[in-house]
Amino acid sequence: MPIKTDALIIRENNRIGENDRFITALTRECGVVQASVRGARKITSRSGSGTSLLTYSTLTLTEGKNKWIVTDAKPQRVFFELRADMAKVALAQYFCELAGVLAPREEPAEESLRLLLNALHFLSEGSRDATLLKVTVEQRLLRQAGYCPDLSGCAVCGKQEGGMFLQPLRGTLLCTEHGAPAIDNLPLTAGAVAAWRYLAEAAEDKLFSFKLSPESLTPLAAASEHFLLTCLGRGFHTLEFYNSVK
Ligand SMILES: [Zn+2]
Repeated sequence: MPIKTDALIIRENNRIGENDRFITALTRECGVVQASVRGARKITSRSGSGTSLLTYSTLTLTEGKNKWIVTDAKPQRVFFELRADMAKVALAQYFCELAGVLAPREEPAEESLRLLLNALHFLSEGSRDATLLKVTVEQRLLRQAGYCPDLSGCAVCGKQEGGMFLQPLRGTLLCTEHGAPAIDNLPLTAGAVAAWRYLAEAAEDKLFSFKLSPESLTPLAAASEHFLLTCLGRGFHTLEFYNSVK
């Protein structure tokens, strides 16, 4: 029984000498799926444009032997504008790689899909700070996957206000009295702590509607990335590439 689902293409792999394309898609109904697209690279293929990286499409998926097969792909939005800007396309590819690791598999992924689509929309429009978009995507995908630091207050005395240090391994905060600058104590301004709490709790429609001063955004972004890499215990090529071109 074929499934019709909206999806963002988060990975595209074309094998040399073959007309088929292999994709990873973040789908609304089935989460992250891998699928092959027969004949996608033929010039006359209808499925070709609908299965390109960073395209939002309506896919028709049929279950084949051990894998999904895309039998139809109708593009709804192609984030073409991103391709004109190396740093933006690098960040977009990092979002895709992260979603491929953190978004649900074999189960609905409505929230992850909307997060990615909104982030790509604002990134291509240029109407939101790219670093803030990066922190937002990192922390919401982590949270959806069950990783969220305890942001309630200092783990020793419970103090809630003021600057803090994040301990990425424990996922806890220390106030400036109980923590000190160290490799594993990442400094956060009071504004950065408040922003992180906001990102953890905000309703989806309010998620992208706030701003942060550079004094708070810089330490927040550093701590967010460090926390993510610590939680997942791995690096990301797309992140390394983004950091080298941004
Ligand atoms: Zn304390």
